[in-house]
Amino acid sequence: MPIATVNPANGETLKTYEAMGEEELERRLQLAEATFRTYRTTTYPERARLLNRAADLLEEDQRDIGRVMTTEMGKPVKQARAEAAKCAKAMRWYAEHAAELLADEEPSAVDVKDSGAARALVRYRPLGPVLAVMPWNFPLWQVVRFAAPALMAGNVGLLKHASNVPQTALYLEDLFHRAGFTEGCFQTLLIGSGAVDEILRDERVKAATLTGSEPAGRAVAATAGEMIKKTVLELGGSDPYVVMPSADVDRAAQVAVTARVQNNGQSCIAAKRFIVHTDVYDAFTERFVAGMAALRVGDPLEEETDVGPLASEQGRSDLEELVDDARRFGAAVLCGGERPDGPGWYYPPTVLSGITREMRIHREEAFGPVATLYRAADLDEAVLIANDSPFGLSSNVWTRDEAEVDRFVRDLEAGAVYVNGMTASHPGFPFGGVKRSGYGRELSGHGIREFCNITTVWHG
Ligand code: NDP
Repeated sequence: MPIATVNPANGETLKTYEAMGEEELERRLQLAEATFRTYRTTTYPERARLLNRAADLLEEDQRDIGRVMTTEMGKPVKQARAEAAKCAKAMRWYAEHAAELLADEEPSAVDVKDSGAARALVRYRPLGPVLAVMPWNFPLWQVVRFAAPALMAGNVGLLKHASNVPQTALYLEDLFHRAGFTEGCFQTLLIGSGAVDEILRDERVKAATLTGSEPAGRAVAATAGEMIKKTVLELGGSDPYVVMPSADVDRAAQVAVTARVQNNGQSCIAAKRFIVHTDVYDAFTERFVAGMAALRVGDPLEEETDVGPLASEQGRSDLEELVDDARRFGAAVLCGGERPDGPGWYYPPTVLSGITREMRIHREEAFGPVATLYRAADLDEAVLIANDSPFGLSSNVWTRDEAEVDRFVRDLEAGAVYVNGMTASHPGFPFGGVKRSGYGRELSGHGIREFCNITTVWHG
């Protein structure tokens, strides 16, 4: 895959980049290692000052970087600006909370005494250069939710961004430099995915985090495993969205539309499988399909656009294949389902019903604005369908019955359960999945501690 900005709205190649050569990569790895030696000794207030400055700059740049993101990967420009604002918020959150999240911990007095210590503590120390392999779907956010905690913990970052968002990748490096971080604290490596393996094997790289597809996650985790390096993986999702009879069905259907099509449907935590109790199935379906069909699809640079093109031609044909496969096995297409003529990688909001287990879309991630509908006879069946997926990232349930909420929270195989709302990440809450959605957590105290050397200090 060339490293290039190709506008998904018309297929035009706007900018191409040469991949960095061996010498340049070696220079950058040396710089990362050398910078870490001094950066690790800086204080939390010093790091917080720099990160807050980066947040200020990002807010100032919101409009410009928003347009760049839209031009690189096609998300509606208002969503791109909102993404930049969210990143600034996460930076400020970590600037404010890192010191307390990573404060020394004291083991219980009983254990200290039992170990024969006069005193003891647990300290969170940084690990070193961390490699971040990131995807194009939230080209700022995916990186910032790694970089903000990593930098506050005293680590330095090496970013291998997706090949189709090079301008956003370079912007991020520039942003951290302008904020005052020294050059080696955060570097962008312009490389293809084939160059990741060697960098991950380099002794100077201490750990890796990857957000993206299962094959990419497997490749990085395999090498990291061989090298005994810590990884965090945030892979795909096919989140269930369950609607029970006691729910506010109007509201559930309205939110379902946003939950499915946000970011042109290319979000790991988008709700993808809509599992509706038979008593409210028809009412929900009618409203949901009407909402999906009413969306404005078009130029993502237009303020009024709800759904832009998919990020790549490949992404669109992958999605199309999933829909065609479902149709072949008898799924009904309630809206959408046909690619429009003309330039750009557009695909219409689509709803499929009559989903069965032999359809690929039942077990694969539909990365685009395609929803699948399931009818459930009762709560038990809803849970069964929800868990009948290789993924387990997040989940959504709509019910006003507390006993049902307890059952869902007990039984859903996912890293999060959102009740009467849609999944949205927040810096204060851990984010990540189970099953083939990956492992480890990002955000919150859990996220910042993933790349720390948790050190026991014992005094005799
Ligand atoms: P990829 O997983 O291929 O890309 C994500 C990142 O991983 C990119 O930086 C990519 O680099 C890199 N990468 C790819 N293969 C390897 C490898 N073998 N070793 C090291 N790094 C690698 O995602 P795609 O863009 O191809 O999307 C395919 C599917 O993945 C989507 O349809 C969706 O299902 C899922 N996906 C999920 C995301 C999520 O948020 N969970 C985000 C993106 C995709 P390069 O760009 O150079 O190939």
